[in-house]
Amino acid sequence: MAATRFPTRLLINGTSVTGEGRAESVLNPSTGEVLCEVREASADQLRQAVDAAHAAFPDWAALTPKDRSAYLLKIADAVEAHGDEFAMLESLNCGKPLSAARNDEIPAIADVYRFFAGAIRNMSGSLGGEYLAGHTSMIRRDPLGVVASIAPWNYPLMMAAWKLGPAIAMGNTVVLKPSEMTPLTTLRFGELLSDILPPGVVNIVCGRGDTVGAPLIRDPRIRMASLTGDVSTGSKIMESAARGIKRTHLELGGKAPVIVLDDADIASVVEGLRTFGYYNAGQDCTAACRVYASDKIYERLVADLSSAVSGIQLGLQQEPGVEMGPLISARQRDRVASFVDRASQLPHVEITAGGSAWGTKGFFYKPTVVAGALQDDEIVRSEVFGPVVSITRVKDAEQAVAWANDSEYGLASSVWTSDVGRAMNIASRLQYGCTWVNTHFMLVSEMPHGGMKHSGYGKDMSVYALEDYSCVRHVMVKHNA
Ligand code: NAD
Repeated sequence: MAATRFPTRLLINGTSVTGEGRAESVLNPSTGEVLCEVREASADQLRQAVDAAHAAFPDWAALTPKDRSAYLLKIADAVEAHGDEFAMLESLNCGKPLSAARNDEIPAIADVYRFFAGAIRNMSGSLGGEYLAGHTSMIRRDPLGVVASIAPWNYPLMMAAWKLGPAIAMGNTVVLKPSEMTPLTTLRFGELLSDILPPGVVNIVCGRGDTVGAPLIRDPRIRMASLTGDVSTGSKIMESAARGIKRTHLELGGKAPVIVLDDADIASVVEGLRTFGYYNAGQDCTAACRVYASDKIYERLVADLSSAVSGIQLGLQQEPGVEMGPLISARQRDRVASFVDRASQLPHVEITAGGSAWGTKGFFYKPTVVAGALQDDEIVRSEVFGPVVSITRVKDAEQAVAWANDSEYGLASSVWTSDVGRAMNIASRLQYGCTWVNTHFMLVSEMPHGGMKHSGYGKDMSVYALEDYSCVRHVMVKHNA
């Protein structure tokens, strides 16, 4: 299976066009080689994309849920029909194993569109009725208008689905900007969309945050800005949106605590951490990266996890058995390395697995375990966004809960114990958008994904995303006689 060509054209008003802005090299992170160049949208093209979305909005919003649903089902079918090609492009551009892209991501992406195709036909809400004598009130849920969607580089086509699915199902139109580092699957998707959707409903523009993302959000016709990205980017987008009184939907960073109690099944904890701490090379906002281990099981967990993690197979995307690819860029690899180097200089810390770059080409970093980390250490407090798991010893469950909540982040968390009552008690006290019990990282289209605190707000997937991409309206009708 080989990718025959790399898509480089933007989608504006239903037409594929070459960007007229500066060219950006798109790399294969496994080798550092340039795959292709993609030109940014010029200021004029950006305006045309918003013009198109603005013009398409009234007709798209006026379609029945059934008709919009039919479009979403066609999109899901197209994702599946081109699954091999999408998986190949995604793995080449992100460095992730081809098998993970093909078997994990593509089916989940198709399912997101199918879920919203069904959900939009099944929205329900408040009663209508007479709340003022002689008048009937009803509540409507209507789309907002043009949404600017800004995606990150870790799961490009999946993040596009999380943003486009609820937005267009609800009747909004969208201008979507993928990350400048990973635009390829989104651009290929745009080529397919031009044959499926009416022109202007979805427009795709490429470019950097400062040259394309920021001016896009400033356009006065943008009614909502949706970002998955860094906390600092979220903060800039909020400032910009505040000036234009726009809605925001922010899925930002994470630093997921993993609470392991002394009655946990250690073998399944180790298996879980080996998978959920290092999946996508740890470049995942929900990565199981901050372990709090009870005193009694701490030594065994460190030993077993370090040995398990040392066996993770690194390699090129298509190598048989490869489990982990590189980081997205040299910069990201160096950033991860600098976190681990600083941690390793602390007298109480021991790097019990990994701790260095890997290979002679590309941006690989070995799966790493940082044992003995303390609550105030940088490696415990800051998002590393790489294949690095810290383990901190706790004296009991109370200390684990307190330390888990002592964080700026609030996206995902997990508790590992054989006592369901303890698990429920801890889950009820964790300040995170999601808590898993005896697992981690499992996402389904029906359930909401989103954060608290600096991890942002707004939900992806589930009916809650439809609520976020819409507004509640009241219509009151005066009775005759
Ligand atoms: P990033 O913030 O650097 O970039 C994200 C997107 O924002 C890119 O498309 C970028 O071009 C754009 N951007 C940057 N500056 C902008 C600006 N001023 N105005 C408008 N757009 C701008 O993030 P990243 O490095 O691509 O992704 C990694 C981050 O994303 C991590 O912090 C990770 O935790 C977070 N993330 C969160 C979730 C979640 O669901 N909460 C999911 C995936 C990734």
